[in-house]
Amino acid sequence: MFEEPQPNLFSFNNPLGACPTCEGFSLVLGIDSDLVIPDKRLSVYEGAVAPWKGEKLGKWKDAFVRSAAKDNFPVHKPIADLTREQYNYLWRTRGGINDFFKEVEQNLYKVQYRVLLSRYRGRTTCPDCNGYRLRKEALYVQVGGKNIGSFARCRHVI
Ligand SMILES: [Zn+2]
Repeated sequence: MFEEPQPNLFSFNNPLGACPTCEGFSLVLGIDSDLVIPDKRLSVYEGAVAPWKGEKLGKWKDAFVRSAAKDNFPVHKPIADLTREQYNYLWRTRGGINDFFKEVEQNLYKVQYRVLLSRYRGRTTCPDCNGYRLRKEALYVQVGGKNIGSFARCRHVI
């Protein structure tokens, strides 16, 4: 593997190899799920989704609870006990957490939404390279069933 014609492809320190989304830093500024759901012992119904509170934003919770019932999502189950599928549903379904933050981002001209967003933003693992720092083309290369990124992550350098 060290005799590849373009070894720079496998270096996140090189623009040729670095993931274009996080520029090789492995982290991006995004919505931090630990800030959105700080207490995973709570259920959605009990208010696990931190921003879905108050007179106005609490309506997101009410709407989610209503539509979740139709989809057999367990609104009374603690977040920690949800299956991966159910957890993904909470984020990705229509009216879920991702939709909520999309709406927040569309309202950033209002100061209260900017404050709200800053409260839940943090450095999160890059969604494109999964923290492997390398661009997709480099991650396609596999060594012993592992992509080159998993070596990069444990040794920090190649
Ligand atoms: Zn990345």
